[in-house]
Amino acid sequence: MMKRKSAPTNLESVDYHAVGVSSESELNPFRIAQRQLDDAAKILKLDPAIHELLRWPIRELHVALPVRMDDGSTRVFHGFRVQYNDARGPCKGGIRFHPEETVDTVRALAAWMTWKTAVVDIPLGGGKGGVICDPRELSQGELERLSRAYIRQVGRILGLEKDVPAPDVYTTPQIMAWMMDEFAFMQGYNEFGMITGKPLALGGSQGRGDATARGGVYCVREAAKVLNLSLQGATAAIQGYGNAGTFAHQLGVDMLGLKIVAVSDSKGGIYNKAGLDYKAVMAHKQQTGSVIGFKDADSITNLDLLELPVTILFPSALENVIRKENAPKIKAKIVAELANGPTTPDADPILYENGVQVLPDFLCNAGGVTVSYFEMVQNAYDYYWDLKTVHERLDTKMTAAFHAVHEMAQKYKVHNRLAAYLVAVNRVAEAMRLRGWA
Ligand code: GLU
Repeated sequence: MMKRKSAPTNLESVDYHAVGVSSESELNPFRIAQRQLDDAAKILKLDPAIHELLRWPIRELHVALPVRMDDGSTRVFHGFRVQYNDARGPCKGGIRFHPEETVDTVRALAAWMTWKTAVVDIPLGGGKGGVICDPRELSQGELERLSRAYIRQVGRILGLEKDVPAPDVYTTPQIMAWMMDEFAFMQGYNEFGMITGKPLALGGSQGRGDATARGGVYCVREAAKVLNLSLQGATAAIQGYGNAGTFAHQLGVDMLGLKIVAVSDSKGGIYNKAGLDYKAVMAHKQQTGSVIGFKDADSITNLDLLELPVTILFPSALENVIRKENAPKIKAKIVAELANGPTTPDADPILYENGVQVLPDFLCNAGGVTVSYFEMVQNAYDYYWDLKTVHERLDTKMTAAFHAVHEMAQKYKVHNRLAAYLVAVNRVAEAMRLRGWA
């Protein structure tokens, strides 16, 4: 039974096994995360103990969750919470509800959160959670009971001084509200700051909804400046039409003047060289559950969308969609990674040699966690900022992070992802050294 219209969508899934022939172990996200770190460790001449500590999560919890289904049966779901590193502050990172979730994916995402909070220089560590489930097949009641069951098991290692979750793939502000409420019952008092991405009425922050895409848009603006690229009227394509993808469409047009010629979701894509109107496409998706079948456009596959001759490409879905097989065919000048892990390590040098500017995921999509941090600060003070203040402070953080990475890339003559690693790993390693961990 599909409840597509009410389903919680954030980042949409694409068929990421369909791109080519890369082997399974090459595509294991945790192996990828370790490989990326190893490259940075070599250049930084990282202390071997610090390096080894950074290759693994500090701790992780695996849970089994019994959930009463609407038909009276009980189904057992499996979930994880990985706390990767908390040297710079409490662990921070979203919770994904996805049918293909694996602990290695959660580990990789928790590692990337560690680099993400470090690259934007907010006083937090990295963590991630996941539950193997397909929320599109659950009723609202089942989804609520699953969300509460997750907190009953994982709540013991959460808290605003320990580990603070947030929304991610297929989890929403409503799910955050249920989780916060369950945690309040466990503690005996409200602790709003234990989770972020909450609805405004329950301690959420202004500007959290579009923060991931907005942060990416600030990054693209800065990249265009250093590349001397004019964005007004430039073309763009967006893969994924969840939270990040839809807001990238809207803000790409409204803030950068981009012409978005193609967008896609897990079911397929649409293309119109004259540009796609975001209000009309969003209304169509709202009505039908997908962007496909939109009247003013031709259809295009998720894979062909990546290879369009556009100025900006926004991969905004899942991992491993740009690989060594299709990297030589990417024609975009800037690849702005709003998804986590869309590009494999074998693809990075190919893009770099072809002069494609990659804005790496943990820089480009750090706007979400940055406004989550603002939300924690506001919860702690019980005093809330207006939207303008949130936007200004987000802009300051993203602009500084972009330039720190850009300068590192120039200095070491490396691609932006490696440069972002150099900035982030340095900061985490310094905190670990100062704490006496190695
Ligand atoms: N899930 C988002 C991410 O991958 C946001 C995390 C957060 O706000 O803590 O960055």
